[in-house]
Amino acid sequence: MTTTLALAGAVLIDGTGADPVSGRVVVVEDGLIREIARTVPEGAEVLDLAGCTLTPGLIDAHTHLGLSTDLQDLVTGQVSAAEIAAAIFGAAERALREGFTTVRDVGGIDIGVVRAIGSGAVRGPRVLTSGPILSQTGGGGHYAPPWEPACNWEARDMPGLLGMSLLADGRDGTRRAAREAFRRGADFLKLMVTGAVLAHGDELDYTQFSVEEIAVAVQEARARNTYATVHAHNNAGIRNALEAGVSCVEHGSRLDERTAAEMRRHGASLVPTLSVTHAIIASPEAVGLPQETAGRAETVLDGMRQAILVAREAGVRIGSGSDLIGPDQSGRGRELVWKAELLGPMDALVAATRTNAEILGLDDEVGTVAPGKSADLAAFDGSPLDDPSIFADPARLRLVVHRGRVVSADRNR
Ligand SMILES: [Zn+2]
Repeated sequence: MTTTLALAGAVLIDGTGADPVSGRVVVVEDGLIREIARTVPEGAEVLDLAGCTLTPGLIDAHTHLGLSTDLQDLVTGQVSAAEIAAAIFGAAERALREGFTTVRDVGGIDIGVVRAIGSGAVRGPRVLTSGPILSQTGGGGHYAPPWEPACNWEARDMPGLLGMSLLADGRDGTRRAAREAFRRGADFLKLMVTGAVLAHGDELDYTQFSVEEIAVAVQEARARNTYATVHAHNNAGIRNALEAGVSCVEHGSRLDERTAAEMRRHGASLVPTLSVTHAIIASPEAVGLPQETAGRAETVLDGMRQAILVAREAGVRIGSGSDLIGPDQSGRGRELVWKAELLGPMDALVAATRTNAEILGLDDEVGTVAPGKSADLAAFDGSPLDDPSIFADPARLRLVVHRGRVVSADRNR
């Protein structure tokens, strides 16, 4: 017999940006939101959410579940496959328990992880994955020390579990890497087109890949009805990517007005990632990074805060990603708190729900509370619009529903 759940008594924020409403009952059946009613349907099991705010399940558009161990230990082969798997699945379950019912993973996990979570063998959110990142040799996705032969890099991968990045050079090399990423289960492609905070041999103002190389990846993505997103900090790299047909930019920490206008013209989205930057500044060691990365992260944070305002001014679609790396994958909701400081709590929530769903191409399925959508919901004690810190406080997360099933109903976990 089908169970009908009625989530009643909460103030509802549907994720579209519309004002909160009271007196609605969200009716859940067969994993979907059946209707938004005024009264509890007969025979339904009622979840009383008086005093709570009910929102769509949150979406993190920039995760690295595969990088949830100490990064230096990971790259130097000091962690076993079992420990890596335990960390990945722990991070996935934690994300779900913290209200994130969908994540877009942009590098680190291999397809076995997606299958294990998708089958229900391990608890976790809905996962979309880029598969292995595409990086040029010595680029932002190539974390090896300079004396190590480049041909050794991919030997770190653990098939089915961990796939860091594919080194790709030239049009043919990039095409092959793109096809290989798709063969290994990628839902979309991720390319490093500028230097990175983490990398050994590059600077944030370097560009990586030529326009022609990026365009080949975009072509391969479009051939599969999907898209390519890029890691990019500087404007020259972002403009190369736009010229090549890329539709999404991660980080964008140096985005200026001119490039933001180009993004708008191309209909490209920006996924800023404040959480990781704060975390690295607070303690690079805790993430498993050398001390000098803190300095890079500080310039990135100032720039990124500015970039978010520039993007908003230009009318660029702004999503939300935590980019959490390292062993501490808790407090994913802090991304909304940091964003709320700049955009206000409602826009921070919309970025992490409806807008992220659009960026992921899943807006028919998730991101808003509407009939026919997957029953992915989160309920917070009190009003996160009045106090956005509630988004990051596990003690205030009363309920998580994922695909119509209650994940967690206890107050303190
Ligand atoms: Zn990242």
